[in-house]
Amino acid sequence: MANRSSDIQTQLIHAGEPDPRIAGAVALPVFQSATFEYAGQNSYHDLKYIRLNNTPNHQVLHAKLAAIAGGEAAVVAASGMAAITSALLSFLRSGDHLLVQDCLYGGTHTFVNHDLPSLGIAFDFVAGNDPSSWESLLKPETRVIYVETMTNPLLEVTDLEAVVRFAREHNLVSMIDNTFASPVNFKPLGMGFDVELHSCTKYLNGHSDIVAGCAIGGEDRIERIVDRMNHLGGCLDPHACFLLYRGMKTLALRVRHQNDNALGLSQLLEGHPAVAQVNYPGLDDHPQHARAELLFEGCGGVLSFEVRGGVEAADRLIESLVLPISAPSLGGVETLITRPATTSHSGMTTKERAQAGISDGLIRVAVGIEAADDLCDDFEQALARL
Ligand code: PLP
Repeated sequence: MANRSSDIQTQLIHAGEPDPRIAGAVALPVFQSATFEYAGQNSYHDLKYIRLNNTPNHQVLHAKLAAIAGGEAAVVAASGMAAITSALLSFLRSGDHLLVQDCLYGGTHTFVNHDLPSLGIAFDFVAGNDPSSWESLLKPETRVIYVETMTNPLLEVTDLEAVVRFAREHNLVSMIDNTFASPVNFKPLGMGFDVELHSCTKYLNGHSDIVAGCAIGGEDRIERIVDRMNHLGGCLDPHACFLLYRGMKTLALRVRHQNDNALGLSQLLEGHPAVAQVNYPGLDDHPQHARAELLFEGCGGVLSFEVRGGVEAADRLIESLVLPISAPSLGGVETLITRPATTSHSGMTTKERAQAGISDGLIRVAVGIEAADDLCDDFEQALARL
């Protein structure tokens, strides 16, 4: 009964668990075995082998991920990038064309820009919030449209409903990187997206101690991705599977606390005289606040802001903060802070960043699960020093 619940908190604990439990173990043990005894399988892909992502540690994760996202099937991968690249290469071949959002996670941007052309795959960037401009970029060879739920680091919310409509109208596979929202805050498959992707390194694992990824969707599409990933080799190690499985059990508790922490911190920053700009979709004056309210349960743990005084003031603020750790990444239990111009967006020139609306002084915060008052007090004391 429990594992048929549609509540994500129950699904995270019970969905996909072996029945009966293996040797009675409440927590699924780690099956640290590369290969498994032959059991009469007729196909190579059915043999049990870690690279084929089909050991008991993989299987429980696949069932849990499919349940929480409302998909028929899922597959885990060695990293978010392994999931993203395998998924794109499952639906694009030489001669095909991709429509892809212009503001992307850097690794995905580089893969599209540098690697796809060498494989004979063409692409055009589209503005995620300007659906009227998409049709003119469509070609007879267009197969896939690829977007992210929210952009990094400016937290714009993509016109997600328009993406689903456009994909259906033009018979495209719609793919979404839903890392920033997590399945707690947004369920793209329920809205009609075909493939949902995550860097499980972030919220799904939540403890900044592994790198992992996943793709979730309909049975047929996931089967294609599994097939491609089996050949490319981007499998997740069983011990990392175990850590992801352990981390996922508290996903909803963590993310809901992070939603609250990020909203509270955004409101504090927005009202502070030393702060020039705050970007968080949960704020009433965010340009896509209405869309976020309509589609998301919460707006996630990432926000960005600018202090008056540019780069120098931004660096002084980061220095003065006690709790946030200066590091890239997001989605862990600890608050991380970074200046994207020196980390995630350092590959762009100042001019390119300015064109994208990312000033060199912009600060990104990925809140953790610390007490809200402690976080806010820390930011207040650091802002007072500017
Ligand atoms: N997608 C998003 C939105 C990310 O932020 C990241 C990493 O920061 C990735 C994908 C890539 O994930 P991974 O580092 O697990 O390969």
